[in-house]
Amino acid sequence: MKPLLAANWKMNLLRSEAEALAAEVGQHVVEYGDINFDVLVCPPFIHIAAINEILAGSPVALGAQNVNQNGFGAHTGEVNSEMLKQSGCSYVIVGHSERRANHSETDELTRLKAESVISFGMTAIVCLGETLAEREEKKTLQCISKQLSGSLPSQFNGQNLVIAYEPVWAIGSGLTPNLSQIEEVHSEIRSQLNKYSNDANDVRILYGGSVNPANSKTILSVKNVDGGLIGGASLNFNDFWTICLSVL
Ligand code: PEP
Repeated sequence: MKPLLAANWKMNLLRSEAEALAAEVGQHVVEYGDINFDVLVCPPFIHIAAINEILAGSPVALGAQNVNQNGFGAHTGEVNSEMLKQSGCSYVIVGHSERRANHSETDELTRLKAESVISFGMTAIVCLGETLAEREEKKTLQCISKQLSGSLPSQFNGQNLVIAYEPVWAIGSGLTPNLSQIEEVHSEIRSQLNKYSNDANDVRILYGGSVNPANSKTILSVKNVDGGLIGGASLNFNDFWTICLSVL
């Protein structure tokens, strides 16, 4: 499976900084030639249109970090899938743990968002992950299964769905699970996906949470890890590019 390296810029970068970073990523991907991995950048909403122009004709994909599940209407401050599609997005992250924790987003809402994204021909990146308390109570697999069953869109396949396993306690903390813990969760996700669909074999399962240039090679070579969702380290071009090249 072709790995996906996805940059989640979160609420960072002014427009000129975002444009410069996207241009550098785009230029390196083109210069590298026939790369055997997919690269995605997910800027804040306000920069999406500008980055779409910077990446015009580039193999680097553009994504959003969130979406509203509704069509047009009275939803002040929100952005819907049709708008994102028209602005050049091909991926949308849904159910990130920061959305779940800070905006009370549930599995059900995550599912509705994923279905909206898919209905506009884009790929939903559905995020899952246990808290530290859940891991300590040995409830990791239980938590992952519950989030997966509640958040999965009704119709999915390898083109319209990516799963990102992101332990909440690993995000931005510098901590990561050990390799066998990552392998255990990814293999559980893989077998659950196969239970829900006959078409799930090529759904990519990303790992996210404190991936950096020093740990990326080992983490991204774990079985059933089909790429990474990179937060902090994606804001620095050299760090992000080193992580991308570590899948080769
Ligand atoms: C994320 O929040 O999606 C993430 C992976 O963050 P970080 O890499 O900074 O831990």
